[in-house]
Amino acid sequence: MVSRVYLDWNATAPLRAESREALLSTLREAGNPSSVHAQGRDARALLERARNQVAAMLGAEARGVIFTSGATEANMLAPTPTLHTADDPRPVTRLLASAVEHPSVQAGGRFAPDAVDTVPVTPDGVLDLDALEAAVSRLAAAGERVLVSIMAVNNETGVIQPVAEAARIVHEAGGLLHVDAVQAVGRIEFNINEMDVDLATVSSHKIGGPQGAGALVRADDRLQFAPAIRGGGQERGWRAGTENVAAIAGFGAAAVEATRGRLAETARLGGLREYLERGLLEIEPDTVVFGQRAGRAANTTLFAVPGIRAETALIALDLEGIAVSSGAACSSGKVTPSHVLAAMGVPLEIAAGAIRVSTGWSTSETDIETFLKTWRKYVAALGKAGRKAA
Ligand code: PMP
Repeated sequence: MVSRVYLDWNATAPLRAESREALLSTLREAGNPSSVHAQGRDARALLERARNQVAAMLGAEARGVIFTSGATEANMLAPTPTLHTADDPRPVTRLLASAVEHPSVQAGGRFAPDAVDTVPVTPDGVLDLDALEAAVSRLAAAGERVLVSIMAVNNETGVIQPVAEAARIVHEAGGLLHVDAVQAVGRIEFNINEMDVDLATVSSHKIGGPQGAGALVRADDRLQFAPAIRGGGQERGWRAGTENVAAIAGFGAAAVEATRGRLAETARLGGLREYLERGLLEIEPDTVVFGQRAGRAANTTLFAVPGIRAETALIALDLEGIAVSSGAACSSGKVTPSHVLAAMGVPLEIAAGAIRVSTGWSTSETDIETFLKTWRKYVAALGKAGRKAA
């Protein structure tokens, strides 16, 4: 069997050894964290340990962490018109989400579709702060209270968003800020208090924990909203349903590891990205790297070669043992170009060629070398004539 090269870490990261251990040892024990007996108390202790670990990753208080089934659920839970602060009980009336948000944010949470507006990004994929400022002050002047939702790092381009600046603009207008930090934690410095973020979303499987766990983190107790799943009193009433203790324990262990090695890892992955992007341009000087002029997380490169279609390239690479992803979503046999690239004003024919290479702690220089060799072969085999006229 060909040994495979995994370069799709933004889709999901391999399970970390420490996380697998925490997950498996929890699965070996019975115990519902809501039970009062010894096994129940043990499960509760594991849950609370993970809560502390996830909180520490964000510089948050443990009591701010609400465990969910993943980031999608957290991104649906946060945007709600019932959101308010204890000292300002006016609920939010409008949701402003950036044009490059994950579909789980773009779905608008519990807001009616006509209460959701979009904030544009620049051609580099960075939130347009002037447009944000104009929108929030216009809405504030009209008596509306806004919730703004932006991501800290874009999952497709790796572009880092100006979260602290957005927080200042939003708070000056009396609004609240939710940040999808799924692709940021473990990759860039992300401290919920230092950045003055009100609510943040994180996901276990993007940092090397198991799939099926995530969290919505409240920066402070003043933030109140109605739960989406009601019933039992789990998660102090914020989210009913017996917690997925094993996955959450694995999430906590992954949070510790993601935080521990971050700085060294960022420097190493930044070096690999330079090597990759130099190689891509050498193979084909017309290669476009999206968001290149913006600050990007060190692990992500989204690129296209005019005339090369991503979905065919992806299949060819997969056959050679390389897993990458495309910037386009394929549904019912029809490829829809990435909404992120569309928001950046990238023409459709270029966007249709967008390929994402994303790396992580076990990615080696040899992996990138193998990718570049295979890519060189593919581009050469296709030749200029084999490319669809762009
Ligand atoms: N937000 C971002 C930025 C993501 O990349 C993803 C995963 N693609 C999600 C949210 C959803 O995460 P989950 O798989 O935990 O639901």
